[in-house]
Amino acid sequence: MKIICDVEVSNRLLPSQNMTGSRRAVRSTLGIGKLDSKSENIFILHQTTQNKTGNKYKVTGNIEGVFTRFSSEGKATIRFRAPPHDLCLRSADPIQLNCFLRLLRNTLEGKADRVTSTKAETGNLKENNQLPGEVGKSKSRLGVISPASKLLAGIKRTLKIFKRSDYPSVLGFPKTLEELQISRLQLSCLDRQVTRLPLLRMLDLTDNRLSSLPKELSLLPNLRELRLAHNSFGESCDKGVSSTSTRLNATENEKWGWIGGSLLTSLTFLDLSYNKIKHVPDVLCRLKSLLNLKLDHNEISVLPSGLGTMCKLRLLSVSNNSLLYLPGSLRKLRLEAIDISNNPPMEREMQLPRRLWPESLSPSAVLGMPTLFEFAARKVVSMGLHPTASDVPYPIVTYLSSANFCICGGPCFESKLKVLISMDPRSIAFSVAWTSGSGNPPTLAYLCSLKCLESVKKAVY
Ligand SMILES: [Zn+2]
Repeated sequence: MKIICDVEVSNRLLPSQNMTGSRRAVRSTLGIGKLDSKSENIFILHQTTQNKTGNKYKVTGNIEGVFTRFSSEGKATIRFRAPPHDLCLRSADPIQLNCFLRLLRNTLEGKADRVTSTKAETGNLKENNQLPGEVGKSKSRLGVISPASKLLAGIKRTLKIFKRSDYPSVLGFPKTLEELQISRLQLSCLDRQVTRLPLLRMLDLTDNRLSSLPKELSLLPNLRELRLAHNSFGESCDKGVSSTSTRLNATENEKWGWIGGSLLTSLTFLDLSYNKIKHVPDVLCRLKSLLNLKLDHNEISVLPSGLGTMCKLRLLSVSNNSLLYLPGSLRKLRLEAIDISNNPPMEREMQLPRRLWPESLSPSAVLGMPTLFEFAARKVVSMGLHPTASDVPYPIVTYLSSANFCICGGPCFESKLKVLISMDPRSIAFSVAWTSGSGNPPTLAYLCSLKCLESVKKAVY
């Protein structure tokens, strides 16, 4: 049996010699079986396009451990005694990987041996030459390992579709796809087949008419890049329905329901430019691995206050929108580049800083004492927990999603303590695109405590 996956070989001896080996995972095939029909020993053969002969590892009596805790995510590690290598398997199809691991376990327990020895007597070793009656008996599929070069060469990893006639409606998408582009097809909904491509790393749906994506997309374990420019994500899902705000929230939540699951930790690139988006959902800020976010050429007036909690963000581009101000939590970020050019409302002269509560009230009176409920909610949000309606009553879910983020990065709910300050974008980014020659862009700072208010007063902007 053979599987295709990324394999990183780590030599356990190297660290003790103060050396580090290459830590690169290479697309490989791993086969388990006999090297030829005469041999008795079972081997694992690791082959790549660079090393077609492959490295063989004896299985019987030579395996120190098999780590399978993350096999459902396509990951596992096999530890050999000699040579002292760990084979770290990644990006495998979870179903195939589990079959492979089961076969390995059977081999170690001697169950698979029995099957192959009976097969050896009948002289039918090659898995493709089995007699019809034997198929049931040889469940373990331990045969002679055939060369992998053909298998590796035949893998379809990239597919680009620009015409209806190229769409694989009959055959379906190859399960081995890592990059898929479907553009200029006027698609208004995405084929659910795409959500069942376990190896997909890049999905480019630029230039269609999509206003949402299927929720199952969040289950793709390896998706890193999602290109959605020139679509209709700003379009409301139910234009005709006159509904209450809760109902609107529910539809809005459903529309962005694909932001969740594995994507929260795997997605590093998201392009939502040219989508007529007016409202950026708060759930976007939960994409904690995002490095590059593009929201150019939309109709956005306010960015989510939690944008500054996306601590890995390096490139943020929100040019050509209608931004009124930036969220204060951005102060927590250290970006390589920020593009906030062509946002006319933000470029107008503003009287800054300006407090946004009645003159007659003192800050402590405005802030008041947060309720125990708010304290609990702050804790839940700052711990990165996102309970759903199946965990807690729905009003609590709504309350938790209404969090604003203070300049300190912490969540606050009821606080009316807000100030408009000016923030020098060069204090958060190395390279800045900002059209206005005079002054800095206005920034709305929510304040969770009097201490944070003090830090605004003291800070030099
Ligand atoms: Zn604060």
